[in-house]
Amino acid sequence: MSARDTFRAPKGTRDLLPPESGRQRAALDRFAALASRYGYGEIVSPMFEDLAVFQRVGESTEIVGKEMFELVTKGEGETRLALRPELTASVCRAFAQHRPATPWKVFYQGPQFRYERPQAGRYRQFTQVGIEALGPDDPMLDVEVITLGRRFLDSLGLTRVTLLLNTLGDPAGRPAYFAALREYLSDRRTELSIQSQTTLETNPLRVLDSKRAEDADVISGAPLMVDHLSAEAAEHFAAVRAGLDQLGIGYEISPRLVRGLDYYLRTTFEFAAESLDTAQNAVGGGGRYDGLVEQLGGPPTPGVGFALGVDRILLACDAEAAFDGPPEAVDVFVIDLTDGTRALPIIDEIATAGLAADRAYDNRSMKAQFKAADRSGARVAVIVGDDEVAAGTATVKDLATGDQAPVVRADLLSALRKQLT
Ligand code: AMP
Repeated sequence: MSARDTFRAPKGTRDLLPPESGRQRAALDRFAALASRYGYGEIVSPMFEDLAVFQRVGESTEIVGKEMFELVTKGEGETRLALRPELTASVCRAFAQHRPATPWKVFYQGPQFRYERPQAGRYRQFTQVGIEALGPDDPMLDVEVITLGRRFLDSLGLTRVTLLLNTLGDPAGRPAYFAALREYLSDRRTELSIQSQTTLETNPLRVLDSKRAEDADVISGAPLMVDHLSAEAAEHFAAVRAGLDQLGIGYEISPRLVRGLDYYLRTTFEFAAESLDTAQNAVGGGGRYDGLVEQLGGPPTPGVGFALGVDRILLACDAEAAFDGPPEAVDVFVIDLTDGTRALPIIDEIATAGLAADRAYDNRSMKAQFKAADRSGARVAVIVGDDEVAAGTATVKDLATGDQAPVVRADLLSALRKQLT
């Protein structure tokens, strides 16, 4: 590559520039505020973990088996690390490490990394928000978790997102179901895609997750977990449904819904955006993972949570013309007709007081500065020229009506506040 070649962001990654970056920031802030209101505190964990943390929780899955970015550290012996492909494993690792009191309710936000084939709504670096609640076994906690996800999507103005609900049973009922499923799939093995034949060897349940057309027929006739539940698992599922009903949160029972990671049992759910292409229409999902903390070396601790894909959520918002994000416009544009140094303290004063201000640079002409003021979207301009400096004033101009009046420099902030309310 010569020095003149231009670089591009790596395949499957994107630069988020203003205003889209501001929109994402606003969505993340909204999620953080909502999660706090339900009693969740933020966890900020490393972007990478010991490779074994992820292997322990999902060796047979595509996410862990094929899609992980692994890191080789230089000169540190055998440390094998991986960029996090998701955060549930990291949260459980952190719980096992720090042993906080339960219930432990945390939320997170940030980038995840998966080595996938990039396409619309599928990237190699993408942003998730999520929550995890560790400790209670209570189905009311499942309901709370699902509700929080639903309320977040509602708050963005999304109306065409369906909640799909399923149960994957519990350890008491699963062996019998797995046996029935394995037997059914093995009998029809040759009708399955090559990929599903391989999946069948490692985890028959995940065959149900196949989106390949050639598998559809076999999958549609497969035995269902909901018909093989233990009494406890059935009761838990009924309580979750009753809780959602009580809050008026609609859902569709989706008996073939399987999640991409192996650790889920009992409640599982997904939010599917009708406005997106079916292959990429999951804007988020989650469920119970009662054995995960133990697998990572902690005490037996039930857990439930979800992760939502922010990139896809914003695509769904585009499709529904929802959630524009905050306006980009500043409040005030400062036009300096002296040598450019007068705008400096004025901007500083306005910004410190909590209003947004901008200016032009390089001693542009008055005409150019007024043009820049128009482009900025500011409602008000502050003009300082030699006359104003001599009189100790600044001129405040309403850019919509064109009305303008001088104000004493010391009263500028209160005049601006009045004008902007
Ligand atoms: P998962 O842990 O795979 O269920 O992911 C949760 C959510 O993250 C999904 O429903 C998607 O919205 C989002 N997501 C997962 N993988 C990707 C990706 N490669 N690109 C963009 N979003 C993703």
